[in-house]
Amino acid sequence: MEQWQEQLKEFVNTIDRLKKYINLTPEEEAILQGNKTIWGTTPYVASLMDKDDPACPIRKQVIPSSQEGQNTYGMDDYLVWKENRETEEVRPDSIARQYRDRIAFTVTQTCGIYCRHCFRKELVVDGDLQLDFNVDEGLAWIAKTPEIRDVLITGGDPFLLSDDKIEYLIRKLREIPHLEMIRFGTRLPIVLPHRITPGLKKVLGEYHRVPIWVNTQCNHPKEITELTAKAVFDLLSCGVNVGNQTVLLKGINDNVETFRALHQKLLTIRIKPYYVFYCEPAPGIDHFRTPVEKGAELIRDALRGHTTGLAQPMYVIATNIGKIPLMPDYYITDHDDQYYYLRNHNGLETKIPNMPG
Ligand SMILES: *Cc1c(COP(=O)(O)O)cnc(C)c1O
Ligand code: SF4
Repeated sequence: MEQWQEQLKEFVNTIDRLKKYINLTPEEEAILQGNKTIWGTTPYVASLMDKDDPACPIRKQVIPSSQEGQNTYGMDDYLVWKENRETEEVRPDSIARQYRDRIAFTVTQTCGIYCRHCFRKELVVDGDLQLDFNVDEGLAWIAKTPEIRDVLITGGDPFLLSDDKIEYLIRKLREIPHLEMIRFGTRLPIVLPHRITPGLKKVLGEYHRVPIWVNTQCNHPKEITELTAKAVFDLLSCGVNVGNQTVLLKGINDNVETFRALHQKLLTIRIKPYYVFYCEPAPGIDHFRTPVEKGAELIRDALRGHTTGLAQPMYVIATNIGKIPLMPDYYITDHDDQYYYLRNHNGLETKIPNMPG
């Protein structure tokens, strides 16, 4: 058995196993005892938790909260709305489509961490929504839909599939002449870096016509370790690009210091920040959601000008009609026939000539 499979065998999804890593508060323990949802993570992630602090950013992503029962601002049947499952186009359950040239292809609903803030929680965490993820059906739909040039393989976590299954998926996709890129959305470089094995590198690697991009999800600098750094280097060294998609989470990463440290630390291990997502209005995650403006404010106050542009992600809200940018817009203060007036991160102002169109 490989190390990553041992991690899964020892998956921390019982109170007894969790108690090997942390001291549960009476409240946490009571909630876990009454819990009916899927929860848990790898021993590796559990070992990163603060032993005594229930406000630990990793604990809060893993241990259910009593607030999950409240749903004032979340939408019912969120995923059906979000993934456009009620449109006229006939598509397999595994294909979510919001754009002409690309789709999200769900191949599993198993994860290496069951994030309490997951926007797909109806499917992944609550297990209420039943969908059929037949991979061959999805592949056949992609093959007969010539405008699709970019497939985002997602889940659950697609890197939990065996090397053979991942190899099959990639090989079949690369045989489709109109495909130009393959992407994986996976949290495993963060929550189970042991998964990036020589075997997986062989499946992903080498020089091919159709490149592979990986986007992971890292929400807090504490989630980054030497093992993550090595896993990312291994992916890059076999030609796979690695980006990050953070979820903006109240009480976890919604302050200037953490937000800046997170994005700077991602670059130190060669991960390019790609998106920061507004926490979506899925049911039962109100307690993680900030006001919409928060992400733009953080980019303004923590990143833009304060550190390299390479550390700067695009802040977006994912909706049923695609991702909508919510970037800060303070830079242009005014314009007239002669000038554009601009402001920088320190509040200094300047102007450049207005160019007639
Ligand atoms: C997020 C998403 C994509 C990919 O969007 P990018 O902005 O290209 O990363 C594609 N399809 C669906 C349904 C998505 O939700
Ligand atoms: S790893 Fe992704 S799909 Fe799985 S629970 Fe976390 S956010 Fe949801």
